[in-house]
Amino acid sequence: MTKANFPDWSLGQASKMYGVDHWGNDYFSIDQSGNVVVKNPQQGAEHPVPIMDIVQGMQDRDLQMPVLLRIENILDESISSLNDTFADVIEKVGYQNKYQGVYPIKVNQQAQIVEEIAQFGARYNHGFEVGSKAEMVAALSTIEALDSLIICNGYKDQEFIDLGLEATKLGFKCFFVVETLTELPIIVKRSEALGVKPLIGVRTKMTSQISGHWGATSGERSVFGLSSNQLIEAIDYLKEHQMLDCLQLLHCHLGSQIPNIRDIRSGVLEACRYYTDLCKEGAALTHIDLGGGLAVDYTGLQSSSGQSRNYSLAEYCEDIIDTIKTTLDAQSIAHPVIVTESGRATVAYTSILLFNILDTVDFDAKPVPNAAENEHSLIANMREISGYLKPQRVQECFNDAQFYRDEIRELFKRGQIDLRTRSVSETLYFNLLHQIKAVLADMPRIPEELEGINESLADIYYGNFSLFQSLPDSWAIDQLFPIMPIHRLHEKPNRQAILADITCDCDGKIEQFLVDQQIEKTIPLHDVKEDQEYYLGVFLVGAYQETLGDLHNLFGDTNVVSVRLNADGSYDFVKEVHGDSIEDVLSYVEYQPHQMKTRFRNTVEAAVKDGRINARERQQMIKTFNASMQGYTYYEKEELSENVNQVIKRAS
Ligand SMILES: *Cc1c(COP(=O)(O)O)cnc(C)c1O
Repeated sequence: MTKANFPDWSLGQASKMYGVDHWGNDYFSIDQSGNVVVKNPQQGAEHPVPIMDIVQGMQDRDLQMPVLLRIENILDESISSLNDTFADVIEKVGYQNKYQGVYPIKVNQQAQIVEEIAQFGARYNHGFEVGSKAEMVAALSTIEALDSLIICNGYKDQEFIDLGLEATKLGFKCFFVVETLTELPIIVKRSEALGVKPLIGVRTKMTSQISGHWGATSGERSVFGLSSNQLIEAIDYLKEHQMLDCLQLLHCHLGSQIPNIRDIRSGVLEACRYYTDLCKEGAALTHIDLGGGLAVDYTGLQSSSGQSRNYSLAEYCEDIIDTIKTTLDAQSIAHPVIVTESGRATVAYTSILLFNILDTVDFDAKPVPNAAENEHSLIANMREISGYLKPQRVQECFNDAQFYRDEIRELFKRGQIDLRTRSVSETLYFNLLHQIKAVLADMPRIPEELEGINESLADIYYGNFSLFQSLPDSWAIDQLFPIMPIHRLHEKPNRQAILADITCDCDGKIEQFLVDQQIEKTIPLHDVKEDQEYYLGVFLVGAYQETLGDLHNLFGDTNVVSVRLNADGSYDFVKEVHGDSIEDVLSYVEYQPHQMKTRFRNTVEAAVKDGRINARERQQMIKTFNASMQGYTYYEKEELSENVNQVIKRAS
């Protein structure tokens, strides 16, 4: 398609419309052919790869949509830039110690991700934060560099502590962060028993107030950490057991996704106050762990609202280092190793959810049947409205349309109007809304009640994905993710739509989009061509989405593909993981697939005995049933057309 077809459209407008240059963090953009491309962040790499090329490669491998695409290089780059930026600022301001990060496994626990982080993080001794025994085991079996930290948060029983002490014996720097005083005696007892000197941290309750979604969980009511009384008790207890020298780390976690840099600064300041006073109490602190909170700018608006952040990575590092340096210098306390537990910012960009559109429903104006001879008077009244529609009377026309439509619905309920008549009124109603919308377009101020008119006329695009499985935060906390078509961007989008998923649950829809730097209820999309798949991407979904998802309607894990981009513009499929089969998800909810197959076989067998079906039909039914059990839980297009072909063949 040539540009001449869309004289009032350019690729620049496309990237502005979907904001990709703002939220894309330089990883994503639109190329000359109107495809979304992913850039290799590696220095010297010049050839971005169209995501559609990767989709083609998936098709060649028979990997059906939806697919979670992971770009390894992006994860690699996230870890490097975090470590390099801290190192740069440390050098610039003459901070007298180093940065050493850890990745909190809970943010994305998938083995691939954790293994890649261990691999890419090794050169920085980037370690792990673990909150349970399961995560501890995962960390211990993947970590590559001995000097990396393992930070143990969460409630720890004896087994958890033994695991940590053994890790220490092996040479890892494994810190027990004390969350409740009941852990201390176990740590003391077990370290004596195993003959290991433990590394201990204390978690403080932060009172700094944080704005943003997770703010409510910080402050006095935080369920985590020790109060000031408990901190003193912990110190006295350790002193009593001649173990105060083991207390080497102060931990705090301000919250996740902190949009405002001022909150970070004031939180760090509070942490430094604890740090200095614990030092004065005789603790041999060497590490300050500031937890997570480094936000992701999902909207790209650089604002201090919850889905964004008003600072860069460099400012984040500068504010932390500057605050620690200034506060501790004033007290002549040596600079500690700075630890952060960035999860979201480390993994968000690496994953993209890709899916195709299965179907669309529009609410366009439709031809209305001519007036029947003895048409109901309410319908006749509706037909008249367009005659007096003008800017001055737009609200009145809307009210009238609404009134007559509702009256007709009421009469239908009471059996006084038939379905055909009701259908005429609904068509008339939508046509009127379209006419009203056209009138509003030229009006300087839109009456409040009519503001939602565009949404009510928007198409519904049905996507081949489950919101509950793949974008749980979109459903649970209205998290906004950047969404856009990954191709056809040289064409001007000619539809307005909301997105519905395949679950048919009324909550399974997305009605919040970033469009032209605003948060809108509908998204501009292209019309779907009959002979061509239309693909959308949901970006920045690497954090918290993959393992929070549930089996709503028994839609399971999606296929996952990991890709490594090469400097010359080629790319390799490094890993492919096929998503759950129907058999898999059924066994998660405790069905026994083997038994199910046997039972179905018996049912079919009985039907043969009764003469309801013949032996060939029996064979076909069992085959279909077994194939479904092994199939993907999502909508499989090829399979369908194959089935359709078979049906046609059989019929002819
Ligand atoms: C969740 C969590 C993190 C990760 O926070 P992000 O905002 O994702 O970086 C870090 N530390 C602790 C203790 C957490 O609970």
